[in-house]
Amino acid sequence: MAYVNDNYLKLKAGYLFPEIGRRVSAFASANPTAKVIRMGIGDVTEPLPGACIAAMHKAVDEMANRATFKGYGPEQGYDFLREAIAKNDYQAKGANVTADEIFVSDGSKCDCANVLDILGAKNVVAVTDPVYPVYVDTNVMAGHTGDADAKGEYKGLVYLRADAANGFVPKLPQDKVDVIYLCSPNNPTGATMTRDQLAMWVRYAQEQQALILFDAAYEAFITDPAVPHSIYEIPGAREVAIEFRSFSKTAGFTGTRCAFTVVPKDLMGKTESGETVDLYRLWNRRHTTKFNGVSYIIQRGAEAVYSAEGQTQVKALITHYLTNATLIRDALTKAGLKVFGGVNAPYAWVETPNKTPSWDFFDTLLNETHVVCTPGAGFGSAGEGYVRFSAFNSRANVDEAMQRVTAKL
Ligand SMILES: *Cc1c(COP(=O)(O)O)cnc(C)c1O
Repeated sequence: MAYVNDNYLKLKAGYLFPEIGRRVSAFASANPTAKVIRMGIGDVTEPLPGACIAAMHKAVDEMANRATFKGYGPEQGYDFLREAIAKNDYQAKGANVTADEIFVSDGSKCDCANVLDILGAKNVVAVTDPVYPVYVDTNVMAGHTGDADAKGEYKGLVYLRADAANGFVPKLPQDKVDVIYLCSPNNPTGATMTRDQLAMWVRYAQEQQALILFDAAYEAFITDPAVPHSIYEIPGAREVAIEFRSFSKTAGFTGTRCAFTVVPKDLMGKTESGETVDLYRLWNRRHTTKFNGVSYIIQRGAEAVYSAEGQTQVKALITHYLTNATLIRDALTKAGLKVFGGVNAPYAWVETPNKTPSWDFFDTLLNETHVVCTPGAGFGSAGEGYVRFSAFNSRANVDEAMQRVTAKL
């Protein structure tokens, strides 16, 4: 028999979303007439922007002709897309990022896992608590941690607590860390980091020679000018940060699949013997060896996000979800709950009444209102006492779910 990767056995068995699925299925079979409304999983509900659809149709037709057919494309993405990203997402916002620093991929989830390929095993890794579980689980899989303790925290990881006292933006670590995952706007709390807060992290990374892995999957939801869209809006960030971005939440590409990662050429790491190595070269090597590019059709669809028509349509999509978020915030506040997030972000992070454990409150909501939320405990021990409501839904579902919740609570 072949040896397995023992690290996988350290992973906690009951992953959050399968357990939610199990409880919802059990409820639905016991109550077949109940109309369950899912406000839990963070997946988009509205169709793709028309400009993206038109561009993809056109690209399909190109694939049908010998003269315009495309085989393998560049692994890093077609220039038309990398240039549109660099120009619109960075240069237009005063961030110095060039097209060749952009690596187009099939998802940010994959990229923030794959980045561990180019990082050594000795790094002290910091994550926030609560946290997007992918950051933690991929470090466990890569053997960067010990076993989980009774609280579900892995030995070897540094957990930075995000709570109501710090506005869900964690304080700097007490001890030196080498790698820090930050996500703003945040999944699950919906908190955002201001320019000053992010600058404080960049300064820390410069002083400690640490690497920030900045997940900006929700940047399109930012409407407040004090909140930066990219870490590269902060001076010095090019030397300390990798940024992950995705078309998933911006333009509804969760099922279409297109994202990108920015690795600036100024970003350095070191070998165990102390030599300096640029991470750009390593990431380019990894990407071109292990990945064969995103489909031409999909990249044309993503490019259309930056057309004038695409921008109008994407703004309308985001406004739809942000209005849902406002409706959720207002209704739950009216129901007497304490609500965080839901501004500049598609998630509301809600304190359970009387510190009820989050899975108990999840069950109460499901049984009494047939509304599904996400228990905060699934995102880390500091998520206990909270649940997450997602604004990714139709307006009709949000209205009905909020009517039910306000009537019952
Ligand atoms: C949805 C999401 C992503 C995007 O993942 P894709 O693989 O690009 O769909 C990245 N990070 C976080 C925190 C997310 O919630």
